[in-house]
Amino acid sequence: MNSLSLENVSKSYGPVEVLKNICIEAEEGEFVVLLGPSGCGKSTLLHAIAGLHTINKGRISIYGKAVNDTPTRERDIAMVFQSYALYPNMNVADNIGFPLKMRGMPKTAIREKVLEVAKTLQLEALLERYPRQLSGGQRQRVAIGRSLVRDPKVFLFDEPLSNLDASLRVDMRAEIKQLHQRIGKTMVYVTHDQIEAMTLATKIVILNKGEIQQIGTPAEVYHEPANLFVARFIGSPAISLLECKAEENDGWTFLVCGEGEHRLTVPLRNADLLKKGQDVMLGLRPEHIRQGKHEGAAARAMVELIEPTGPEDIVVLTIAGQRAIARFPTSSVRQGEEIGVDLDVSRSVVFDAENNLRLAVNLT
Ligand code: ADP
Ligand code: MG
Repeated sequence: MNSLSLENVSKSYGPVEVLKNICIEAEEGEFVVLLGPSGCGKSTLLHAIAGLHTINKGRISIYGKAVNDTPTRERDIAMVFQSYALYPNMNVADNIGFPLKMRGMPKTAIREKVLEVAKTLQLEALLERYPRQLSGGQRQRVAIGRSLVRDPKVFLFDEPLSNLDASLRVDMRAEIKQLHQRIGKTMVYVTHDQIEAMTLATKIVILNKGEIQQIGTPAEVYHEPANLFVARFIGSPAISLLECKAEENDGWTFLVCGEGEHRLTVPLRNADLLKKGQDVMLGLRPEHIRQGKHEGAAARAMVELIEPTGPEDIVVLTIAGQRAIARFPTSSVRQGEEIGVDLDVSRSVVFDAENNLRLAVNLT
């Protein structure tokens, strides 16, 4: 049974539709990440699941039970927000135990449960401290502890790491992943950060302007993006998109990119879906562009800029008169140099330049 199911969920604020026919299924134990730019409707969707917003259309079910009319506190979910509001005048143990106290659980049972949660989150040594005596990451862990203590069926997180500084964010990200693996509960996690989504998710839902663009595993959205929006949103450095035209000669179809001495041709294995003269975008991930080792390299490239990152350089190139980004071993090229490059086009993707959708064509 699905732990969470959204069927055609729509939501408007006045005349503005901010969620359009959202359909998402999550099996028990999945880590679903809602990913998209600011304002695309992620928080609205999470709040709808939580029951903090009513929806205009559609159905939300938790473990098979429609909850559209079920109040938040009866939905058996827990939420962790960006601003972890802890009670400043309560110590960590009392903050974590608060939801149980509200339910009238006896003191000794609360203590037992708090200790169990504190152990899971490595907060045992901090139980007597007050929020002001904790670091940002520790406070966030207490907030997670408070949601954990009730043993909810589904966890909802709304950008829980965005108030933390960069290194702490990476640590907490790993902690949340480990927590998920330990407790095996369904989690729905909102972020605008594609790296967070890639590292945490079993399933990524990419949203733009209230509409789902693609649902897939991290590998699927990276290697087989459904459209240009997804291709551009996922991956850092970004995918390179070369404007090409489909051409035909002697029954062979191929892509042509650039003109004159910069002209680059890319052969196609199956081109049934392409029309002669069709404008397409050839999407190349940084690792699909390699330095050509031999004379017959597929293309010439100009090295425009080098950004060292330590283990490798991010290199901005011009290929066929267009900008492309590659990752090369440290100090393997010099700025201003012309080099040969090989393109691993068998792993690249092609998009229709008119409707921005990926075309199912294979390059050789
Ligand atoms: P995200 O979390 O992805 O940044 P939100 O779900 O917060 O986006 O918002 C989605 C859209 O709905 C935005 O355009 C926002 O301006 C609008 N919105 C959010 N809350 C309200 C509200 N209470 N009234 C009117 N519009 C709202
Ligand atoms: Mg938001």
